[in-house]
Amino acid sequence: METQLKFRDPNLTKEVLKYIKNLAPNYEVKFCHVCGTHEWVITHYGIRSLLPEKIDVIAGPGCPVCIVPAKEIDEAIWIALNKATVLTFGDMVRVPGSKISLLQAKASGGKVKIVYSVKDAVKIAKQNPNEEFVFFAVGFETTAPSTALEITRDPPKNLSFLISHRLIPPVMELLLGIGDLHIDGFIAPGHVSTIIGLKPYEIFPKVYRMPTVIAGFEPLDVLFALLTLLKQVSHKEARLENEYSRSVKWEGNLKAQKLINEVFEVTDGIWRGLGKVPNSALKLKEKFSYLDARLKYEIKIESSRDLLPGCCCHLVIIGKIKPPECPLFMKTCTPQTPKGSCMVSSEGTCAIWAKYGAAKI
Ligand code: SF4
Ligand code: SF4
Repeated sequence: METQLKFRDPNLTKEVLKYIKNLAPNYEVKFCHVCGTHEWVITHYGIRSLLPEKIDVIAGPGCPVCIVPAKEIDEAIWIALNKATVLTFGDMVRVPGSKISLLQAKASGGKVKIVYSVKDAVKIAKQNPNEEFVFFAVGFETTAPSTALEITRDPPKNLSFLISHRLIPPVMELLLGIGDLHIDGFIAPGHVSTIIGLKPYEIFPKVYRMPTVIAGFEPLDVLFALLTLLKQVSHKEARLENEYSRSVKWEGNLKAQKLINEVFEVTDGIWRGLGKVPNSALKLKEKFSYLDARLKYEIKIESSRDLLPGCCCHLVIIGKIKPPECPLFMKTCTPQTPKGSCMVSSEGTCAIWAKYGAAKI
């Protein structure tokens, strides 16, 4: 509680904003974060509106639900309609696949159940030994260790896994290759960093000369990160700095990393609206392939499509546009009737903007 108050102190906030104002250049600078919770903090506290005009903060592909490609949702839907009960998180069931969502598949007789953790999935499978279950495992480096842990614990035979985990640093690298984005610095995701530590980000200052700062999730955490980035930009430096040292260690969480390495190998992955990103996904290692739902069931899906007509999620996901610039925003696409993935999860950029309104931003 005390820490929370410290990181919301209004006087300190004013001080930091003063420094930010003094350092703000007279040309445009754009900082990119890659974390749904950072977007929440920035939008909820109206941080964009407090910044000098020339400083923009854009949202990268940091919501673990938004970036699941339609193809993998279609796979889950096919399983739910034909073979086994799909167990997954609440947000995932509402994300549109190529045609329908898992929730709509459930309405047409598909077997879909919401769980809060992979542990719950194991419990349900154990309690119902005569039924088949598939855990649809989504999320970044933050959730992959819990999937890995249950896999090492010899899960019940009637449970398999549809793995859809993704890795953040490779997609940050992809963003730098998108010519007209012109990113001037990264705010690296706090929770992902508690797992992976600092090493995977070293490439950004070293190879790309990109200032990179790890930030926590209080408003002042984000403002300090912006100030640190601005200092680097104004001194024409590019360094990796950890503004979230109360939670992130240089080496990260070694136990979690060990679990990930034991169970998964890194492979190329499709990201919704972005296509294939090299070395950005996890797949089960050979010795655990008997748990792979894709091998257990001969999944038959037609060609998939990530974006419905008019949907701009692919541009929102890379911070190229802000949600109100999508023609569907709050017209046909609302939190109650999401047309795109960014409007579904509480970490999705469009859902956050819909909730807190553009007025505060
Ligand atoms: S998993 Fe963690 S780092 Fe990723 S979006 Fe959520 S809060 Fe941010
Ligand atoms: S408003 Fe809807 S359709 Fe448009 S980008 Fe956002 S989620 Fe996608």
